[in-house]
Amino acid sequence: MTYLVNDGCVNCKHMTCVEVCPVDCFYEGKNMLVINPEECIDCGVCVPECPVDAIIEESQDDGTWMQWNSKYSNIWPQITEARPEDVLADKIPVVDVTMSEEPGKGD
Ligand code: SF4
Repeated sequence: MTYLVNDGCVNCKHMTCVEVCPVDCFYEGKNMLVINPEECIDCGVCVPECPVDAIIEESQDDGTWMQWNSKYSNIWPQITEARPEDVLADKIPVVDVTMSEEPGKGD
């Protein structure tokens, strides 16, 4: 089993999840994060850290997020520490929920 990031993360990026992950399996796109399903050890500690409940169990997924997380965690750069300058004070209303395929900055 693995955990997966869904589109609740788009335009959010609080990034508290990356700070707690014991195996550093988060990867950064332009406007969301993903988890590498092969690296995730299913510990669940990132789940309560996400203020928008964007991290789901594999069993809650219809395959959409497994495909997205698998693909982009092998393309985008790894991120292991939150960047304070990029963390939003509060979740802003999402006006563009389109997931970008572009990479983020990473560490
Ligand atoms: Fe990392 Fe654990 Fe979350 Fe998997 S469940 S992404 S190992 S913190």
